[in-house]
Amino acid sequence: MIHLYDTLSRTIKELTSSDGKSFKCYCCGPTVYGPAHIGNFRTFLLQDVLRRTMEIDGLNPYSVRNITDVDDKTIRQSREDGISLINFTQKWTELFHKDCEELNILQPNVEPKATEHIEEQINLITQLVENNYAYVASDGSVYFKVSSFSDYGKLTKLDKRELQTQTETSGGATNFSDEYDRESVADFVLWKSRKPDDGDVFWVSPWGEGRPGWHLECSAMSMRYLGETFDLHGGGIDLCFPHHENEIAQSEAVSGKPFAHHWFHTAHLMVDGGKMSKSLGNLYTLEDIKDKGFSAMVLRYLLISGHYRQPLNFTLDSLHAAKSALNKIEKSVRDLLKNIGSKESEFQKFVNSERPKDLGFFEKAWESISHDLNTASCLGQIFSGLKILDAKIFAGISESDAIIQLKALGSLMYALGLNLFAEEKIKIRIPEEIKQLAEKRWQAKKSRDFSTADTLRDEIQSKGWKILDTSESYTIEAL
Ligand code: AMP
Ligand code: ZN
Repeated sequence: MIHLYDTLSRTIKELTSSDGKSFKCYCCGPTVYGPAHIGNFRTFLLQDVLRRTMEIDGLNPYSVRNITDVDDKTIRQSREDGISLINFTQKWTELFHKDCEELNILQPNVEPKATEHIEEQINLITQLVENNYAYVASDGSVYFKVSSFSDYGKLTKLDKRELQTQTETSGGATNFSDEYDRESVADFVLWKSRKPDDGDVFWVSPWGEGRPGWHLECSAMSMRYLGETFDLHGGGIDLCFPHHENEIAQSEAVSGKPFAHHWFHTAHLMVDGGKMSKSLGNLYTLEDIKDKGFSAMVLRYLLISGHYRQPLNFTLDSLHAAKSALNKIEKSVRDLLKNIGSKESEFQKFVNSERPKDLGFFEKAWESISHDLNTASCLGQIFSGLKILDAKIFAGISESDAIIQLKALGSLMYALGLNLFAEEKIKIRIPEEIKQLAEKRWQAKKSRDFSTADTLRDEIQSKGWKILDTSESYTIEAL
């Protein structure tokens, strides 16, 4: 049984499949106009842990995650780069897939693209216009009339006055200053009439040339692949308003049925206590983390180590801590394997989505992850279990007991998606700055300037690297 907080009802509810066959999930996917940042991956990773946990629990999850390959940002950037929208978004989609693979994120069952579902989006708008939930402005844009949907604001519990302010602060009043035809500031665009800045990106619709508004794609694609009502909808907390509120309005206005039974929102990743942004220079990608000498698995560990309803603060120190925590788990598992005469590579056979009956010392870890996906407490409980286990190994553990513990750990590693012993297989990339400092230190040492050499060694160490000298040369290793 899995319990999870639902943003809509504001309660922790048991997850159950509505058709008794599979648990249908839709998660808002990336906007592909550049590399995804580690904040995006916090959200995608926690969704991945939820999916894996549901798999182990026997809920048979079926997952859809879209690719947003047309919006203001993708159009603007592809034009700046002088590449067609399709080639531009393809390039960033491929990088996203590569990053997901390295981070051990399971592929969704379906990954639909917005540009491949224009017809479905036009159909939704047609129905909304016919039923007076939407109106056509004089320039051919179509807007959703928020006042026509009495439940508007139910996810975020906004009243009318708050709605006005929220809409303005989230860019509603300023970003769309050219949309003077809107009847109310809260109304949102379903179809954007073609503008010169769109270049050759447009489709033909009953309202003229243009393109769909961003919110519409998720309603159209979730309904296409999961039906009018499905089990769970996920996204980062920033998507609650207006994106998810708008998705609910346009979907429920058309179907007359509840859109999603459960809303799963993940709190944001912060960097050094603040918001991540390009202009502050603190927006990291997986590539940046690897350049600092950390593996994708260490990043995965860090990003899932906090409870999903709490913001997580990313620092370089927390990466070091994640690395040593992962190493500790690996050490205990290695010792356990040694005890039954097995090699590291043989742990893989214990890592699967089968939940063992006997969870050994790790029962509480499983309880934590099943109760509101508390990954933080789950990891804490894993370490408590390992403490008992290490003592048991030291005293001499029987083969049958060792196997029980390996199975329990294997299913937990599957749920968390932690690929143990992966780091040793990848070649750690040493940053240019460290290579230069190491070379300077070596030269200082050769010319017998030992105090400079020592200072440089300390500096290298403070950046997370160590130097191992041989008589002729030196090697650099991550701490
Ligand atoms: P985007 O590519 O901007 O559409 O975002 C993809 C996903 O990442 C969405 O679910 C966002 O809510 C989520 N997201 C964006 N920034 C952060 C962040 N700093 N921390 C966690 N999730 C985020
Ligand atoms: Zn969406």
